[in-house]
Amino acid sequence: MQKLIVANWKMNPASLKEAVHLAKACDKTEVVIAPPFVFLEAVSRVLKKASLGAQDVFWNGDGPWTGEISLRQLKGLRAKYVIIGHSERRKLGETDEVIAKKVTAALKSGLTVMLCVGENWDVRKEGKKAAYDFVRRQIVKDLAVLKKLKIGKFKKLIVAYEPVWAIGTGKNDDPADAALMAGFIKETLAADLAAIGSRVLYGGSVTGRNARGFLTLPEVDGVLVGGASLNPAEFKKIVAAGQ
Ligand code: PEP
Repeated sequence: MQKLIVANWKMNPASLKEAVHLAKACDKTEVVIAPPFVFLEAVSRVLKKASLGAQDVFWNGDGPWTGEISLRQLKGLRAKYVIIGHSERRKLGETDEVIAKKVTAALKSGLTVMLCVGENWDVRKEGKKAAYDFVRRQIVKDLAVLKKLKIGKFKKLIVAYEPVWAIGTGKNDDPADAALMAGFIKETLAADLAAIGSRVLYGGSVTGRNARGFLTLPEVDGVLVGGASLNPAEFKKIVAAGQ
């Protein structure tokens, strides 16, 4: 099966013109492009093959929530995916309680959720068991709602394993370790939350050079790409590695 490649542009690029140019250059099937909110509409207009994703969403409905973006607004722009719980948002103070609310609201709305989980270096240096325990705790807290939803919903859930120490550092995880973690996440979803059928991605310093190492592993269903998604030539190599 073709792997899913997700481009998380974060707070880039600087202009609308560059965003449209980048979107056109990266418009491939089994690709999700997640631009900043301000470029969603323009990117939505030019995508023909790729799907549109958002980098975050608010958990409550329309109303007086200054600075927030609603699920209805995202769906109105034809977004199909939403990233929730990225470590850069967790660093800004987003808690598991807030993330759980966002996941619940987004799954109920029919958007596909890409929940990001992953340990920081302080945890990983204690060993792999510590990393597994940490990730399991995040999954159980953030996805408690899965127990209440019907099995069919779980295909609309993707978990991205993104070790924090690998994000934007140029130090990717060992693909074999990422595959073990992806398998562990699938087991945890099934055993603790009765959830099967969700895809698990790896994210953290994926490039054109190392992508194949992750994308040829059966446990890893795709990659979430930050920095390298801003370079069309690099991104094309990653997409090609997933086919
Ligand atoms: C990310 O932001 O989710 C990410 C994986 O970034 P990078 O590819 O730059 O490490």
